[in-house]
Amino acid sequence: MDTLVLNKNFFAIQITNWKRALSLLYLGHAAAVDEEYRLYDFESWREVADSMTKCAHGAIITPNFSIPIPDVISLRLYSKLPPMTIKFTRRNIYEHYDFRCCYCGTRFSSDQLNLEHIIPRSRGGKSDWENVVTACIECNTRKANRLPHEAGMALRIKPSKPGWRGPDSLLMRSGIKIRASWQRFIDTCYWDGELKI
Ligand SMILES: [Zn+2]
Repeated sequence: MDTLVLNKNFFAIQITNWKRALSLLYLGHAAAVDEEYRLYDFESWREVADSMTKCAHGAIITPNFSIPIPDVISLRLYSKLPPMTIKFTRRNIYEHYDFRCCYCGTRFSSDQLNLEHIIPRSRGGKSDWENVVTACIECNTRKANRLPHEAGMALRIKPSKPGWRGPDSLLMRSGIKIRASWQRFIDTCYWDGELKI
């Protein structure tokens, strides 16, 4: 069971599992948020649980007490938004170029793709979004340690830096299905989150 985490300004920032959600609540770092945007600390959330007829998102039941798993929690102190940049990782690079070779434009499975330095590392090429693209093994081998024009090759897909597409991209990346009850927080962030472009 997962919980949507909001910062203290009610912007969706991440999804966490129920263990961490309850631990943040227990430690007082977060408050549970109900459907009417009311906030509860650990104790009051437990009391609410007693009056609940059903726990929509499951509950933790111990011999001494039971506590519902909050659908949404809000961090008490954290007001930042997630980093606006997408991490420079193999997975993100492959996804950014949609698993295509940037030279021939063909789509491949991940085991047939390599990371390719446009300006070779041996010639001072950096490892960043501007200089690293995906290439299939054939194009990669053909280009070898040369600049594209030296190898008589051209990039069909130009290198680019992925932009922040709001928390939707974060959520899609995590592979977790967005619940209807989370959507309003996500929409708020999408429209009202401060842009750094
Ligand atoms: Zn290729």
